[in-house]
Amino acid sequence: MDLKSKIRNIKDFPKEGINFKDITTVLKDKEAFRYLINQMAEKLRDKEVDIIVGPEARGFLIGAPLAYELGAGFVPVRKPGKLPAETVSVEYELEYGTDKLEMHRDAIKPGQKVVVVDDLLATGGTVHSTVKLIEELGGEVVAISFFIELEFLNGRELLKDYEVNSIVKF
Ligand code: 5GP
Repeated sequence: MDLKSKIRNIKDFPKEGINFKDITTVLKDKEAFRYLINQMAEKLRDKEVDIIVGPEARGFLIGAPLAYELGAGFVPVRKPGKLPAETVSVEYELEYGTDKLEMHRDAIKPGQKVVVVDDLLATGGTVHSTVKLIEELGGEVVAISFFIELEFLNGRELLKDYEVNSIVKF
Protein backbone atom coordinates (compact mmCIF):
# COMPACT_ATOMS: atom_id res chain seq x y z
CA MET A 1 0.00 0.00 0.00
CA ASP A 2 1.21 3.49 -0.87
CA LEU A 3 1.01 5.19 2.54
CA LYS A 4 3.02 8.17 1.32
CA SER A 5 0.27 9.24 -1.08
CA LYS A 6 -2.27 9.17 1.78
CA ILE A 7 -0.39 11.73 3.90
CA ARG A 8 -1.86 15.21 3.39
CA ASN A 9 0.50 18.19 2.98
CA ILE A 10 -0.65 21.45 4.53
CA LYS A 11 1.30 24.49 3.37
CA ASP A 12 2.23 27.17 5.94
CA PHE A 13 0.92 25.29 9.03
CA PRO A 14 1.32 26.00 11.93
CA LYS A 15 3.27 28.97 10.55
CA GLU A 16 4.54 30.30 7.24
CA GLY A 17 7.25 28.26 5.56
CA ILE A 18 6.34 24.94 7.23
CA ASN A 19 4.92 22.18 5.07
CA PHE A 20 2.99 20.17 7.66
CA LYS A 21 2.50 16.42 7.20
CA ASP A 22 -1.09 15.71 8.22
CA ILE A 23 -1.53 12.06 9.26
CA THR A 24 -5.28 12.27 10.02
CA THR A 25 -5.92 11.26 6.39
CA VAL A 26 -4.11 7.97 7.10
CA LEU A 27 -5.73 7.35 10.51
CA LYS A 28 -9.28 7.71 9.16
CA ASP A 29 -8.62 5.22 6.36
CA LYS A 30 -9.38 1.78 7.83
CA GLU A 31 -7.08 -0.19 5.51
CA ALA A 32 -4.23 2.33 5.71
CA PHE A 33 -4.34 2.60 9.52
CA ARG A 34 -4.20 -1.17 9.99
CA TYR A 35 -1.47 -1.51 7.37
CA LEU A 36 0.63 1.18 9.07
CA ILE A 37 0.41 -0.42 12.52
CA ASN A 38 1.22 -3.86 11.07
CA GLN A 39 4.24 -2.47 9.18
CA MET A 40 5.55 -0.83 12.35
CA ALA A 41 4.90 -3.97 14.40
CA GLU A 42 6.86 -6.21 11.98
CA LYS A 43 10.07 -4.33 12.76
CA LEU A 44 9.61 -4.90 16.50
CA ARG A 45 8.26 -8.45 16.84
CA ASP A 46 11.59 -10.07 17.78
CA LYS A 47 12.44 -7.49 20.44
CA GLU A 48 10.31 -8.74 23.35
CA VAL A 49 9.07 -5.22 23.99
CA ASP A 50 7.67 -4.58 27.48
CA ILE A 51 6.59 -0.96 27.07
CA ILE A 52 5.82 1.44 24.23
CA VAL A 53 6.32 5.09 25.19
CA GLY A 54 4.52 7.72 23.11
CA PRO A 55 4.79 11.53 23.40
CA GLU A 56 1.67 13.70 23.37
CA ALA A 57 -0.41 13.73 21.27
CA ARG A 58 0.16 11.95 17.97
CA GLY A 59 2.50 9.49 19.68
CA PHE A 60 -0.60 8.23 21.51
CA LEU A 61 -2.50 7.63 18.27
CA ILE A 62 0.16 5.34 16.86
CA GLY A 63 1.85 4.11 20.05
CA ALA A 64 -1.26 2.69 21.75
CA PRO A 65 -2.47 0.48 18.86
CA LEU A 66 1.12 -0.65 18.29
CA ALA A 67 1.46 -1.64 21.96
CA TYR A 68 -1.84 -3.55 21.74
CA GLU A 69 -0.66 -5.37 18.60
CA LEU A 70 2.67 -6.34 20.23
CA GLY A 71 1.15 -7.31 23.57
CA ALA A 72 3.16 -4.54 25.30
CA GLY A 73 2.11 -1.86 27.79
CA PHE A 74 1.71 1.80 26.82
CA VAL A 75 3.14 4.79 28.71
CA PRO A 76 2.24 8.41 27.81
CA VAL A 77 4.70 11.31 27.85
CA ARG A 78 2.93 14.63 28.36
CA LYS A 79 3.31 18.38 28.61
CA PRO A 80 3.68 19.70 32.19
CA GLY A 81 0.78 19.48 34.62
CA LYS A 82 -1.25 16.84 32.77
CA LEU A 83 -0.18 13.64 34.56
CA PRO A 84 -1.84 13.05 37.96
CA ALA A 85 0.80 11.06 39.87
CA GLU A 86 4.45 11.81 40.71
CA THR A 87 6.50 12.57 37.58
CA VAL A 88 10.03 12.84 36.25
CA SER A 89 10.61 15.70 33.82
CA VAL A 90 13.05 16.90 31.19
CA GLU A 91 13.52 20.31 29.63
CA TYR A 92 14.49 20.72 25.98
CA GLU A 93 15.42 23.50 23.62
CA LEU A 94 13.00 24.88 21.06
CA GLU A 95 13.79 27.35 18.30
CA TYR A 96 12.76 30.09 20.76
CA GLY A 97 12.93 29.16 24.47
CA THR A 98 12.44 25.78 26.10
CA ASP A 99 9.72 23.23 26.66
CA LYS A 100 9.19 20.44 29.16
CA LEU A 101 7.98 16.84 29.03
CA GLU A 102 6.84 14.61 31.90
CA MET A 103 6.36 10.91 32.55
CA HIS A 104 5.09 9.09 35.64
CA ARG A 105 7.98 8.11 37.91
CA ASP A 106 6.63 4.56 38.35
CA ALA A 107 5.86 4.06 34.64
CA ILE A 108 8.96 2.02 33.85
CA LYS A 109 10.89 -0.50 35.94
CA PRO A 110 14.68 -0.88 35.65
CA GLY A 111 15.63 -3.34 32.89
CA GLN A 112 12.35 -3.17 31.00
CA LYS A 113 12.66 -3.14 27.21
CA VAL A 114 11.17 0.04 25.84
CA VAL A 115 10.36 1.33 22.35
CA VAL A 116 9.67 5.02 21.74
CA VAL A 117 7.01 5.72 19.11
CA ASP A 118 6.01 8.99 17.47
CA ASP A 119 4.31 10.00 14.25
CA LEU A 120 7.17 12.03 12.80
CA LEU A 121 10.93 12.55 13.17
CA ALA A 122 11.98 16.14 12.48
CA THR A 123 14.99 17.40 14.51
CA GLY A 124 14.72 14.50 16.96
CA GLY A 125 14.40 16.81 19.99
CA THR A 126 11.10 15.42 21.27
CA VAL A 127 12.16 11.79 21.15
CA HIS A 128 15.68 12.49 22.44
CA SER A 129 14.13 14.06 25.55
CA THR A 130 11.76 11.10 25.89
CA VAL A 131 14.73 8.71 25.80
CA LYS A 132 16.34 10.66 28.66
CA LEU A 133 13.24 10.14 30.82
CA ILE A 134 13.18 6.40 30.09
CA GLU A 135 16.87 5.97 30.86
CA GLU A 136 16.57 8.00 34.08
CA LEU A 137 14.10 5.34 35.26
CA GLY A 138 16.44 2.50 34.20
CA GLY A 139 14.54 1.41 31.08
CA GLU A 140 16.43 0.01 28.10
CA VAL A 141 15.54 1.72 24.80
CA VAL A 142 15.66 -1.13 22.25
CA ALA A 143 14.31 0.87 19.29
CA ILE A 144 12.72 4.14 18.21
CA SER A 145 9.95 3.91 15.63
CA PHE A 146 8.34 6.62 13.50
CA PHE A 147 5.70 6.65 10.82
CA ILE A 148 7.37 9.55 8.96
CA GLU A 149 11.01 10.68 8.80
CA LEU A 150 12.00 14.08 7.41
CA GLU A 151 15.48 13.02 6.29
CA PHE A 152 16.65 16.52 5.34
CA LEU A 153 16.51 17.57 9.03
CA ASN A 154 18.91 14.76 9.96
CA GLY A 155 17.20 13.93 13.27
CA ARG A 156 18.86 10.50 13.12
CA GLU A 157 22.18 12.10 14.06
CA LEU A 158 20.82 13.04 17.50
CA LEU A 159 19.53 9.46 17.92
CA LYS A 160 22.60 7.71 16.49
CA ASP A 161 23.12 5.49 19.55
CA TYR A 162 19.76 3.79 18.94
CA GLU A 163 18.03 1.69 16.31
CA VAL A 164 15.75 4.09 14.43
CA ASN A 165 12.93 2.82 12.17
CA SER A 166 10.62 4.78 9.90
CA ILE A 167 7.99 3.67 7.39
CA VAL A 168 7.86 6.70 5.06
CA LYS A 169 10.75 9.07 4.29
CA PHE A 170 10.67 12.55 2.77
P1 5GP B 1 11.19 17.07 16.52
O1 5GP B 1 11.18 17.06 18.01
O2 5GP B 1 11.73 15.80 15.92
O3 5GP B 1 11.84 18.28 15.94
O4 5GP B 1 9.67 17.21 16.05
C1 5GP B 1 8.84 16.12 16.00
C2 5GP B 1 7.59 16.38 16.80
O5 5GP B 1 6.87 17.46 16.26
C3 5GP B 1 6.68 15.17 16.76
O6 5GP B 1 6.09 14.98 18.04
C4 5GP B 1 5.65 15.51 15.72
O7 5GP B 1 4.37 15.10 16.10
C5 5GP B 1 5.69 17.03 15.60
N1 5GP B 1 5.77 17.47 14.21
C6 5GP B 1 6.66 18.34 13.68
N2 5GP B 1 6.42 18.57 12.39
C7 5GP B 1 5.35 17.81 12.06
C8 5GP B 1 4.62 17.59 10.83
O8 5GP B 1 4.90 18.12 9.74
N3 5GP B 1 3.58 16.72 10.90
C9 5GP B 1 3.25 16.09 12.04
N4 5GP B 1 2.20 15.23 12.01
N5 5GP B 1 3.90 16.28 13.21
C10 5GP B 1 4.94 17.12 13.21
